[in-house]
Amino acid sequence: MKINEKQLAQVNDRIKALVSAGSFYGKKLMEKNITSVHSAEEFENLPFSEKNDLRDAYPLGLMTAPEEEIVRIHSSSGTTGLPVIIPYTAKDVDDWGEMFKRCYEVAGITNKDRIQITPGYGLWTAGIGFQNGCEKLGAMAIPMGPGNTNKQIQMMQDMKSTVLCSTSSYALLLAEEIEKRGIKDKIMLKKGVIGSERWGKAMRERISSILGIELYDIYGLTEIYGPGIGINCSESEYMHYWDDYLYLEIIDPVTLKPLPDGEWGEIVITTLVKEGAPLIRYRTHDLSRIIPEKCTCGRCWPRIDVIKGRTDDMMKIKGVNVFPAQIEEVLHQFPEVSSEYQIRISHLDGKDTMRLYVETTGDVEFLKLADSIAKKVKSVIGFTPLVKVVEVGVLPRSEKKTKRVIDERYE
Ligand code: ZN
Repeated sequence: MKINEKQLAQVNDRIKALVSAGSFYGKKLMEKNITSVHSAEEFENLPFSEKNDLRDAYPLGLMTAPEEEIVRIHSSSGTTGLPVIIPYTAKDVDDWGEMFKRCYEVAGITNKDRIQITPGYGLWTAGIGFQNGCEKLGAMAIPMGPGNTNKQIQMMQDMKSTVLCSTSSYALLLAEEIEKRGIKDKIMLKKGVIGSERWGKAMRERISSILGIELYDIYGLTEIYGPGIGINCSESEYMHYWDDYLYLEIIDPVTLKPLPDGEWGEIVITTLVKEGAPLIRYRTHDLSRIIPEKCTCGRCWPRIDVIKGRTDDMMKIKGVNVFPAQIEEVLHQFPEVSSEYQIRISHLDGKDTMRLYVETTGDVEFLKLADSIAKKVKSVIGFTPLVKVVEVGVLPRSEKKTKRVIDERYE
């Protein structure tokens, strides 16, 4: 999907603002003597923005609107080094709320719903994003924030929450707890809006079947507003995204060239109307593809596939590139295993070894199951992992994001 005339005009507007604010990107453009773009080809030759550029701008180097117009900042946690600070104008906050409201609407959520929000509030964009959209929709927000499972379940019953917003890990933890306590009939949930980490089909099916709810996958990242820039509709798992606010490209992460619609690659995002910290051609490192077909729901917003992983999730084992999503796809073919798994990579006697832990109930033969999983995995990645089958509940559960890959080679 090439950038259109209107979007090009919006990009030129943002270029002007970036240059006059003297931001890192404005400087990049000045060095190349670029003051505007006039065609899709020229746009595709614009330099990329990277997370490191944003870090280097710490604390307020990304600020592109005048200080008196900035009403808020958010920050991405950043596991290494400096965090990224993103300034927002009142219009940015409002635009984000509109996009989020659209997400709820696409999920069939209305102003009669009661939305229990469990992502964290604070510097990061999670909780407050879900809250903004909820208030714009006119639904009732129950702003719980993360953790305290007892209280979550109590409020869920007392307030008769109809929508749960959470990470997939926490949704699973809550679902299993509700099942254990045998209180499913006291829970009024109908829908879950799940974001912030990649999750497999098995996990999705488990949460949805325990709670008897429909699940929606929400997309977003702090650098680009936050969660709420896309969501799937009830027709499929592909996510609609808002092309009146954002332009998405898919590039080959190695050659950095744009890929045709339908091909898998890295998502690159340009914000079309953002004022506080506009970003041009921002590399997300998320892997997906554009779905070229129109959605049967009749909405004309374009779609991307479920995020398959991150370019930096890629594990190099025995010289082979392996993605966690490939392992998940294999495990999904075994109905007797749970959604939880763990991969441990170590280096023993001069060789890489991959151990794969999976969970199952007590009524199957563990050794036989391990053997058939090992064979299936080999057929996909080309070498045989050591598979260990354990009882359901043995692998760690998390209130935030579950760490599934542990690389012991560099510890
Ligand atoms: Zn649709």
